[in-house]
Amino acid sequence: MTETEKMYLEGGVSKEVLALADEVLGELSERFERIDRIAEYNQLKVLGAMRKNRVDSSHFAATTGYGYNDAGRDTLEKVYADVFHTEDALVRSQITCGTHALNLALSSNLRPGDELLSPVGKPYDTLEEVIGIRPSMGSLAEYGVTYAQVDLLPDGGFDWDGIRNAINERTRLVTIQRSKGYASRPTLSVAQIGELIAFVKSIKPDLICMVDNCYGEFTETIEPSDLGADMVVGSLIKNPGGGLAPAGGYICGSAACVENAARRLTSPGLGREVGANLGTNPAFYQGFFLAPTVTASAEKGAIFAAKLYERLGFKVHPAGDAERHDIIQAIDLGSPEYMKAFCLGIQAAAPVDSYVVPEPYPMPGYDDDVIMAAGAFVQGASIELSADGPLRPPYTVYFQGGITWYHAKYGIMLSLQKLIDAGFKL
Ligand SMILES: *Cc1c(COP(=O)(O)O)cnc(C)c1O
Repeated sequence: MTETEKMYLEGGVSKEVLALADEVLGELSERFERIDRIAEYNQLKVLGAMRKNRVDSSHFAATTGYGYNDAGRDTLEKVYADVFHTEDALVRSQITCGTHALNLALSSNLRPGDELLSPVGKPYDTLEEVIGIRPSMGSLAEYGVTYAQVDLLPDGGFDWDGIRNAINERTRLVTIQRSKGYASRPTLSVAQIGELIAFVKSIKPDLICMVDNCYGEFTETIEPSDLGADMVVGSLIKNPGGGLAPAGGYICGSAACVENAARRLTSPGLGREVGANLGTNPAFYQGFFLAPTVTASAEKGAIFAAKLYERLGFKVHPAGDAERHDIIQAIDLGSPEYMKAFCLGIQAAAPVDSYVVPEPYPMPGYDDDVIMAAGAFVQGASIELSADGPLRPPYTVYFQGGITWYHAKYGIMLSLQKLIDAGFKL
């Protein structure tokens, strides 16, 4: 027995789970190498952008008040724009989360009478109130922006005819969600998104194509903006924040789209010129620098979890051997007891709040109680190891994150251990 194995035993993992994990890991070396190669490419991409823009220590200074002449903030935005190969970028702590970034991108680039189209089915839950799919105060619907949706076909493919028919003279913006989020459809590859963008632009060239890029950043060597997206939008407490950003969101895109967003974030006439960084710059820069390897760690955790639980007979999405395009892993655990046990294991492995027992509770917007495991340095950061899901059949837990692969590995092993403690037989 190695010293590391002894540490796992001391950490509450049994010899049986350890042996099983070793077996599963033995099959993963080739997958992991592929992920490392993508991370290596993306690391060079980020470094190249930082070197090109001559990032220096003066850019880490905090600004206050209006935040005029914030060279650190402005340079960071140039770095983001260069990595995503866009004309411009808005990267701000004042963008509070992913939903806010998406709302900002939409509400600033749509005008009354315009129509918004989702050709990939229902968007992420929190966007329902943004758009007004569920009536909500301040929604786009209240401002006279209508919404059309074309669902994916049963096999997960695009409904090309349906999309063609849905585009009309009022259609102004097309929203494409890259990650499945908490839906059961497959996550889209960047290539698929590129194909969809080319198709809608062939019908109406001046359409604005926006991609909800949450959870997808750095999982491939290209981003949707490399294949025609006019805006890519996401959260800094997911992949691009690298686990260090304490809050924030980004919009990278065409100069016109980003200018609209900046004027909506602050004010017409002020735009991007204001917005003090309040000391967030070092974490934003260093987090972005780490983001490719952090994303790779989270992806390794997702694949390890998929392969381990698949082997034990659980249904997992995506399947263990499937090509991955985001960091979310869903596992159908089949019972509320197993869901609680899984979450208990993830929580117990956390660096923060490890002694806490996650319990299901009612949450606004959900019909069923929801359980969440998160022992995060940054509240709600889902690039950190975390698991959650609503307590309803088939009792699916959504698992994501892991700033280091070793933490993800330990958390997943402990989740299985807690399942066994709850009565599961290996
Ligand atoms: C997380 C997520 C969002 C919303 O982000 P929040 O930061 O939670 O507001 C939107 N879309 C997708 C696909 C996501 O994964």
